[in-house]
Amino acid sequence: MPEDNAEHSDTGVIVVGAGPTGLLLAGDLAAAGVPVTLVERHEHRSELTRAFVVHARTLEQFDQRGVADALVAHGRQVAAIRLFDKAVVDMSGLPSRYPYMLVAPQYETEGVLLRRARAAGVEFVRPAELADLVQDAQGVTATLADGRTIRARYLVGADGHRSTVRRLVGEPFPGRSVVKSVMLADVLLKDEPPGGGATNSIGDRFTFIAPFGDGYYRVISWDRTKPADEHDPVDLEELKDIARSVLGTDFGMYGPRWSSRFHSDERQVQRYRVGRVFLAGDAAHVHSPAGGQGMNTGLQDAANLSWKLASALTGGPDLLDSYQAERRPVGAKVIRGSGALLRLAMLRSTAIRTTRNELVSAALHVPLTARRLPLAMSGLRVKYPAPRGAHPLVGARAQDARLRGEPKRLYEALRAGRFVLLDTGGLHEREAVDVAATGRLDLLVGIDPDAPSMLVRPDGYVTWAADSAYPDPKGLRRALREWVTG
Ligand SMILES: Cc1cc2nc3c(=O)[nH]c(=O)nc-3n(C[C@H](O)[C@H](O)[C@H](O)COP(=O)(O)OP(=O)(O)OC[C@H]3O[C@@H](n4cnc5c(N)ncnc54)[C@H](O)[C@@H]3O)c2cc1C
Repeated sequence: MPEDNAEHSDTGVIVVGAGPTGLLLAGDLAAAGVPVTLVERHEHRSELTRAFVVHARTLEQFDQRGVADALVAHGRQVAAIRLFDKAVVDMSGLPSRYPYMLVAPQYETEGVLLRRARAAGVEFVRPAELADLVQDAQGVTATLADGRTIRARYLVGADGHRSTVRRLVGEPFPGRSVVKSVMLADVLLKDEPPGGGATNSIGDRFTFIAPFGDGYYRVISWDRTKPADEHDPVDLEELKDIARSVLGTDFGMYGPRWSSRFHSDERQVQRYRVGRVFLAGDAAHVHSPAGGQGMNTGLQDAANLSWKLASALTGGPDLLDSYQAERRPVGAKVIRGSGALLRLAMLRSTAIRTTRNELVSAALHVPLTARRLPLAMSGLRVKYPAPRGAHPLVGARAQDARLRGEPKRLYEALRAGRFVLLDTGGLHEREAVDVAATGRLDLLVGIDPDAPSMLVRPDGYVTWAADSAYPDPKGLRRALREWVTG
C-alpha cells in the first residue's frame, strides 16, 4: 500500500529520494520541527547493497543522532584495509570513538535512517515519482507523475546519479565515464584471504575481495578486454578465472547470493543550489567505489544542509549559500582521491605496479602519511573554510568531549539539534547567555580545563574556538551573530 496520498499539500521541504542521503536529511528536518515530505519512486526500500563501508565520520554523525549503536550492531568492524601488496591503511589510531571501518550492507544503514525518519514524523509519499517542478520567489511546486502536486518552501534532490531534479533545474553533470561493465558479486569463500581481503591487477584484469561482515565476501572483478553489456549476467567461473590469474587463487568462491554489473563515472555539478532547489548525494557528485566514499559523502552533504534549511525556516539566519561553499570542494576532493585510488589499482604494467607497491608501502611507513590517509578516508579530515586568523580548530569537526553533568558527552548534547557553546575556561559572555535564552544554543561545561572553548554547530563543526594561546571573545560575539541569531 502507498504510505500516503495527499492530493495537494503544503510543506516546509520536499525531499526527493529515500536513499541514504534523503533519509538522513528528511529525518533531521523533521527532528528540528520542520514539516517535510519525502517522495520516493519505489514502494519498498531496496534489499540490494551497493555501499558496504561506513566510515568513522559517518558513525560520529549517527552518534550525534543517537543511532550509531543500532548500525554498529549490524556490522563488522574492520580496523585495517590492504591497498596493494603490503600497503595497509590502519584506522585503529583514528581519534574517534569509531577507530575502524564498519562493514554493513547499505540496506541496514537505510533501515536505521528510515526508522529514525518515521519516528521523527517525516511524511512519506511512496511509490511516487517526481515528474516536474516549478519555483518562484516564495517556494517550489512539485508535480508527481500521477498529477498530484506538493508545494514547499524548498526542495532537495537526493534522487541519485540519474537525478530528475538535476535535469529539471537544467544543471549539467559534467565529467566522464571511468570504467564500464565491472562485475560485482557477493560470494562465500572456502579459504579466508590472509588479512581478510585481497586486491590486485595484472595486465587487463583486476580483482578486489573484501569481507562483507556476515560470512559473505564482496568481489569486484574486471577484464578490460571483455566489454560486456550492463545487463549481461555475471558468470562465477569468469570471476574465479580472473581471481586466479591476478591473485594466484580464487579462495574457493561459491554460492553467490547476488551479482550485478556496474559502470562508474566521475561527475560533479557546478551548482549545489539553484534558487530554492538543492542537490545532495549522488545527484550532485559521482565517482568510483574505490575507498567507499559515495554514500558517506552524501550523508555528510545531508548533515551539512539539514540544519541550515531548518535555520532558514525557523527564523534563524539564512546560511543556505554556505552549503555549496562548504560541500562542493569536499565533493571535488573525494572525486580526485577515489579516482587516484582506482587508477593505481588498475595499472597495467607489471613494472609500474611493482614500483607502485613499493612507493605506497614506503609512503605508509612515513608517520605523517600513515596518519593522514586514514584521516582522509574516514572523513575526519574534512575542514570547512574559516576566517583569517581564526583558531586552527575553526572549520574542523569538534572531537567528542566529556561534559560536567548531563548529557555526559558533547555528541550526546548535539542530539538536541542545537548549537553548543562548550565552555572549558570560565567564559562569562553575556551575549552567549542571552542567545542561550532563545533556545538555539546550549551552554555546556567540559571537564578538561586544558581543552579550548568552542562554539559547535548542530552538524558538529567548530565555528569559533579560543584558548590561552588564542583568546578571542570578539570572535565569539561575531560567530553568535553570524551563525546562531542572524
Ligand atoms: C558497486 C558499488 C559499491 C559502492 N560501495 C560504496 C561504499 O562502500 N561506501 C560508500 O560510501 N558508497 C559506496 N557506493 C556508492 C553508494 O552506493 C551511493 O553513493 C549512495 O547510494 C548514494 O546515495 P543517495 O541517497 O545519494 O542516492 P541513491 O541511493 O541512488 O538514492 C536515490 C533514491 O531516489 C529515488 N528516485 C530517483 N528518481 C526519483 C524520482 N524522480 N522520484 C522519486 N524518487 C526518485 C530512487 O528510487 C532512490 O531510492 C558504491 C556504489 C557502487 C555502485
